[in-house]
Amino acid sequence: MFCHADYDGHERIIYARDADAGLSAIIAIHSTAMGPAFGGCRMSPYATDAAALSDALRLSRGMTYKAAICGLPYGGGKSVIIGDPRTQKTEALLRAMGRFVETLAGRYIIADDVGTTLQDLTTIRLETRHTAAATTSAQQPLATTAYGVFSALRAAALHVLQRSDLSGLSIAVQGLGNVGLPLCDLLHNAGARLVVTDLDRMRVEAAVACFGATAVAVDDVYDQRVDIFAPCALGAVINDQTVRRLKARIVCGGANNQLAAARHDAELAARNITYIPDYLAGAGGVIDFHQESIDDRPEAIMAAVDVIGTITRDTLVRARESGHTPAQIGEQLVRERLSRAARTSAATPTMPTSADHSVQR
Ligand code: NAD
Repeated sequence: MFCHADYDGHERIIYARDADAGLSAIIAIHSTAMGPAFGGCRMSPYATDAAALSDALRLSRGMTYKAAICGLPYGGGKSVIIGDPRTQKTEALLRAMGRFVETLAGRYIIADDVGTTLQDLTTIRLETRHTAAATTSAQQPLATTAYGVFSALRAAALHVLQRSDLSGLSIAVQGLGNVGLPLCDLLHNAGARLVVTDLDRMRVEAAVACFGATAVAVDDVYDQRVDIFAPCALGAVINDQTVRRLKARIVCGGANNQLAAARHDAELAARNITYIPDYLAGAGGVIDFHQESIDDRPEAIMAAVDVIGTITRDTLVRARESGHTPAQIGEQLVRERLSRAARTSAATPTMPTSADHSVQR
C-alpha cells in the first residue's frame, strides 16, 4: 500500500465486506488534519478491486484539497462501493454501508456522488448520523458544484481574457450530467456560446434544444477552437494524447482529477493555457455542506459558493506575480494549511470523536 502510485500519506484505508448485504466497499481517509473527512460515496461496477482502490485514494486526496483550499474545517475522504448502482443497490446494501461509516465514529462524513443519490443518504442515515444532507431543505439538490465552476470560470475569464462577463465567449462543456448540464444553463444565461459533447445522445440533444449549443463528437471536443474548455465528465482527460490538441485559453471544469499526471499542468502552461485546479473549481459541494450548518437557505448557500470566484482570482494573481501556475500556488497553499493544522492538533489533540458532525440547526 505505502508504495501504491496513488498513496499520498493517507491516514486510513478501510475495507468492508458484508456478504449478506452484498456490500464490498472501501473508505479512504486521506487527512483529518483540518477536521473530519468529508466526501462522497461512489458506486460503480469497477473492473477490478485495484481500480476501486485507486479511485478511493485519488478522490479522497482531492477532497482534502477542496476543503483546505477553501479554508473549511474538514479533511478529505471518499468511499467506493463496488457494484452496479442500477442493479445491485438495495436497502440492505446501503444500510450495511451506513453501519460501516458508523464504525468510524464521525471521522468520515459520507455524501452522495456518482452512482449514489440524496435518497440513498436517507437510507444510510438509518444507521449513521455522519452523513451530508441531513436537513429537510438539504434534501433539495442544488447545483452548487456547477455554480462553483461558473464562479471560477468568470474569475478566470476576467483575469486571463480581461472579460468582465462571459457574453460571446465560446465554451466547450464535456459531459452533460449533474454538473455539466446546470453549468450549461448558467453559461447560456450569461450569453456564452456552447459547444457540447456527451456519450449520451439524449443529453446532447437536450443541450442543443435548450441552449442552442453546437454538438460535437466525443473525441472531437479536444480540437475545438474555443475560449474555455470545461471538463465535467471523467478524470484524466488532460493526458499525453489530448494536451497538445487543446486550443482553449482556459481549462476550468467540475470533473475530479482532470490531469492524468502533474506534468500536464506544466504542459498546459507552456502552451499558454491557464488551468484552474479541479479541486478549486469543483469545491461547491463541500462549501454547500458547511454552509448548511450555518444558514441553509438556497440563496445563502449559493452566496457562500461564490467564494470560489474570489479564491480563483487570488490564486491567479499570486500565480502571475510569482511565475508559478495556479495549480502550484494551490498546492503550496493546501500543504501549508495542512501542516499548520497538523502542528496545532499535535499540540492539542482534536481528533474527531463520536461527536455529531451531521448538520445541526
Ligand atoms: P454524471 O454521471 O451525472 O454525468 C457525467 C456525464 O458525463 C454523463 O452524462 C456521461 O454520459 C458523460 N460522459 C462520460 N464519459 C464521457 C466522455 N468520455 N465524453 C463525454 N461525456 C462523457 O456525473 P456528475 O455528477 O455530473 O459528475 C461529473 C464529474 O464531476 C465527475 O468527475 C465527478 O466526480 C465530478 N464532480 C461531481 C460533483 C457533483 O456534485 N455531482 C461534485 C464535484 C465533482
